[in-house]
Parts: sequence; C-alpha cells; structure tokens
Amino acid sequence: MHQNEMKLEFDSRSCNEGFARVSVAAFMTQLNPTLEEVADVKTAVSEAVTNAIIHGYEGKINKIQIRCQIRDSVLFIEVEDYGKGIPDIRLAMQPLYTTKAECDRAGMGFAFMEAFMDSVEVESTVGKGTCVKMQKKIAREVCSEEND
Ligand code: ATP
Ligand code: MG
Repeated sequence: MHQNEMKLEFDSRSCNEGFARVSVAAFMTQLNPTLEEVADVKTAVSEAVTNAIIHGYEGKINKIQIRCQIRDSVLFIEVEDYGKGIPDIRLAMQPLYTTKAECDRAGMGFAFMEAFMDSVEVESTVGKGTCVKMQKKIAREVCSEEND
C-alpha cells in the first residue's frame, strides 16, 4: 500500500490562500492526477481556507492547519481552524446559505467542495473551531509495465 503524509500550518492571511492551494496541488502530483482533478482539489482547498479566514477568524490572524494523506489512490485533506465554529453544520452546508450576504458571499463554498470532492465532512465546535475533512479518489492510469 502506498502511503504518504504532509502537514502545513500558516497564518490566516488571504495571501496564503494561493499558497495553500498550490501546496496541496504539488503534494498530489505523485498520484499522477489529470489537470481536471488538480483543478477540483485546488478549488475545494481554496473554499475551505477562505472560509477559515473570513468566517472562522473574521479577519483576525491565527493559524490554519492543512493535513494531507495519500492512501493508495485516495487523497485525504483536512483543513482546520481554531476560530468561532459553526452552530448548525447541516444548515451551513446547504447551497446558498451564508451568514455574510452583506459581504457579497454566495453561500456556495460547501456546495463546491461537495461537487468537486468525493466526500466532505465537517466537525465544528462553537468557540473552538472547525475541521473540514474531504477525500477524493484519483483515478490514475497505470501503464502496463508498472507493477507496484
Ligand atoms: P461563498 O463560499 O460562496 O463565498 P459562504 O462562505 O458564506 O459563501 P459557504 O462556504 O458554503 O458559503 O459557507 C456557509 C456558511 O458556513 C458561512 O456563511 C459561515 O456562516 C459558515 N462557515 C463556513 N466555514 C466556516 C468556518 N471555518 N468557521 C465558521 N463558520 C464557517
Ligand atoms: Mg465560503
């Protein structure tokens, strides 16, 4: 079984959103993903990190952690913040639901994560923070000489 892990921690500054997205994309290249798979994962990571920055910390600077794991052809990603938490996760995950309509938010972040990843689970405690756990199988083309 092929296994690999990485962990990243960075400040909740919006300039780090691109860093996070590209870092996860770089880590997943060992799975030999298609450009579309890379784009899907980047979008999902970007949505989760943006949520941590604008909702979790509401602009305050604190830490965001991303943990990635590869197990065979499956990529597992966790995006965690230690911010304000989500009181009603089911409601928050509904398409078009947003608590920041005044900031031109569409309420589509979780819907995009669910569309682009195979599964999305959210754990959250009010006052403690939020962890978004996602996974996606990367269907890799194995060439005929490759046996491992
Ligand atoms: P969009 O992503 O389209 O810009 P949005 O961020 O409001 O809008 P979602 O990403 O779907 O939409 O999130 C829905 C709601 O869930 C948010 O409005 C917010 O209330 C809550 N939420 C999401 N992530 C977090 C988080 N990390 N911490 C606290 N609240 C969160
Ligand atoms: Mg969002």
